[in-house]
Amino acid sequence: MYEFNSNFSKFPGGYLFAVLHQKLDAYKKEHPEEKVISLGVGDVTLPLPKTVTDAMQKAVLEQTKKETFQGYGPYEGFEFLRKAIAEHDFAPYGVSIGLDEIFISDGAKSDVGSVCDLFSANNVIAVCDPTYPAYIDTNVIAGRCGTWQEEKGQWSDVVYLPCVKENEFTPELPERHADLIYLCFPNNPTGAMISKEKLQRWVDYANKEGSLILFDAAYEGFISDPALPHTIYECEGAKKCCMEFRSYSKTAGFTGVRLGYTVIPKEIENGGIRLNDLWRRRLGSKYNGAPYIVQRGAEAIYTPHGQKEVKEHIGYYKENTLLILQGLKKMGYEAFGGTDSPYIWMQTPHGMGSWEFFDYLLSHAQVVGTPGVGFGPSGAGYFRLTGFGTREQTEEALERIRKL
Ligand code: PLP
Repeated sequence: MYEFNSNFSKFPGGYLFAVLHQKLDAYKKEHPEEKVISLGVGDVTLPLPKTVTDAMQKAVLEQTKKETFQGYGPYEGFEFLRKAIAEHDFAPYGVSIGLDEIFISDGAKSDVGSVCDLFSANNVIAVCDPTYPAYIDTNVIAGRCGTWQEEKGQWSDVVYLPCVKENEFTPELPERHADLIYLCFPNNPTGAMISKEKLQRWVDYANKEGSLILFDAAYEGFISDPALPHTIYECEGAKKCCMEFRSYSKTAGFTGVRLGYTVIPKEIENGGIRLNDLWRRRLGSKYNGAPYIVQRGAEAIYTPHGQKEVKEHIGYYKENTLLILQGLKKMGYEAFGGTDSPYIWMQTPHGMGSWEFFDYLLSHAQVVGTPGVGFGPSGAGYFRLTGFGTREQTEEALERIRKL
């Protein structure tokens, strides 16, 4: 008889977003007349920029002609896109990334999951607490993280890096050694950003400890403050110990069309083996490349008109975020993030639990957010709202909360 991967049975019941949707569906069934506004899940609401769809339409037409038809592309993505990435996403920050260090994929989440193939089950992972759930989940599936401790709401073998009000939601160096360190800035879910000095401390730590940093910069496009780092490679020594994930999902509305990329510098090496070579080998076995049409769409983002449109999109979401942030503060709530990210991290009022506040807001204001505790124990008593709704939804949601 075949056997399943028993690591799946280690998960506690109730994946955050599954529970959220169950509760939401149950509420809608009971109250079909109510208009629920969701500022919970981080999906975008604006359509793709026209520059992108024009480029994709052109690419579709190319696929109709024998002379321009494109079959399998390179596993690592087309050079035209990798070149645009190196020139626009890194060179302006004084960072030189080789084209053979960039790998295009169908999104950052896929790469976050795939990276688990490259490391033995013995590695200890460290994550920010609270954290984007995929970092832990994918490692549990790969046999790491130990066992779930219900009373603590933690995995036994994970190093949790508390990100709390006192440290401005940026992690301190751990007391216990960690091999694979997941950092995400701008952060999901807290909306916090990290200074270059503090990020440099992490890079120095990783180089000293022989650790690898897996830096998730999916929300890089939302950084406003010119003093903040746009890529971890702005830090000295980062090319020896850091890989970086990027996504077009939130920047350019690619949540549905799917595209992202991962940077793996050739300097990252352990025992004479290069991480870049392992990743390339993995691609050769498991991946046949992201769609040509979508890669042409992403290339168009880097044209002057594409840049203008993308900036307008981000600007729209950031205005929503600031509306929420300022609105909540005016009402007397403690709220964080939102200035360099699309997320707002609010403290629940009157010591309410995260899920208690979720239920309260849903039943009294028909507004949905994400309970902070679902992202880790330090998220208890917090609640995440996003700027990805439409302006009308955002204003209406705020008005409903104000009336409460
Ligand atoms: N990384 C973080 C921190 C995210 O919040 C998300 C999506 O919400 C992703 C990665 C996934 O991005 P993609 O849509 O490119 O898979």
